[in-house]
Amino acid sequence: MMNKNDLIVVAGGGGFIGGHLVARLRQLGHSHIRAVDCKPVGEWYQSFADVDNQQLDLQEKDACMTVAKDATEIYMLAADMGGMGFIENNRALCMLSSLINTHMLMAAKTYGVSRYFYSSSACVYAADKQTSPEVVALKESDAYPAMPEDGYGWEKLFGERMCRHFSEDFGLMTRVARYHNVYGPNGTWDGGREKAPAAICRKVIAAKLSGQHQIEIWGDGQQTRSFTYIDDCIKGTMLLMHSAVEEPINIGSSQLVTINQLVDIVENIAGIKLRRNYNLSAPKGVRGRNSDNTLIQQRLAWQPDTRLEDGMERTYRWIYEQMTDQLS
Ligand code: NAD
Repeated sequence: MMNKNDLIVVAGGGGFIGGHLVARLRQLGHSHIRAVDCKPVGEWYQSFADVDNQQLDLQEKDACMTVAKDATEIYMLAADMGGMGFIENNRALCMLSSLINTHMLMAAKTYGVSRYFYSSSACVYAADKQTSPEVVALKESDAYPAMPEDGYGWEKLFGERMCRHFSEDFGLMTRVARYHNVYGPNGTWDGGREKAPAAICRKVIAAKLSGQHQIEIWGDGQQTRSFTYIDDCIKGTMLLMHSAVEEPINIGSSQLVTINQLVDIVENIAGIKLRRNYNLSAPKGVRGRNSDNTLIQQRLAWQPDTRLEDGMERTYRWIYEQMTDQLS
């Protein structure tokens, strides 16, 4: 059992999911949290004065050794990543995140950390299972034979494999989640690393504020995805961390929508209708992807309970505040 004073390290604590995880751990009464990120603390989405906030580059082994010392649990959420616009154009940078996970696993092994969580991705799934918008939801075994997303997906699959072998060979307890499109407030919404839900909110808000009622959509809008609200993701992550599930498992929603339907939802929230311009040469990722949640329902009785419309409304409101704050 975890003691509330045990040290919990959140690597990538300045990022979207890491920030929400730190916030949740504090709410649960954990008093010894170390959050680490390569960004200056002033640029973190969420930071808290009672947390040991450290700015370090975790691609460096020494930095990983420094932060892992005395830790009971490590949540590895640090990665150089972003939405399709980033990962399709920065494959080498994405693969360099394998340094972060490798060094942190070594540090966790050295210091006898009790549990290690690794944030993998639906991008590990084989491309030939995602060629149609009428998808069969992806179950965990669909990652093999391996043909993941180039760059980012290979790095995640390698990271999963490292966790498995550190567990088998060195007895380090590792837990691996395959996240499917996590969205919500306090995340990236501009600058080129944002993902579809935040990008669509930003574009709709920009159209509303400027009075120019049109929107650019990447691809033909018929591509399908499922989106997981951040609170559901955090709940699933913590359940998984403290479970007996040793193999990688999906943490995702199974509510499948087209990108056009996602735009419909955001238009409804904003109370406007926009002319849609489809950019067929923009990065668009796989044709269709959904999460099969059979395994996680069986093993952890977890399922997301935030409706896409509700999660998007909260995300929209937060991005609206950011954009109008910038204007004032
Ligand atoms: P994020 O970009 O908001 O957070 C990642 C954080 O890692 C960033 O703050 C970044 O500055 C930090 N980082 C990058 N390189 C670092 C380094 N060398 N040293 C220290 N910190 C470094 O992304 P997120 O959405 O919070 O994702 C968290 C994790 O979940 C990542 O591993 C990501 O690949 C994975 N994931 C996320 C999603 C999603 O939809 N958000 C989906 C699948 C997997």
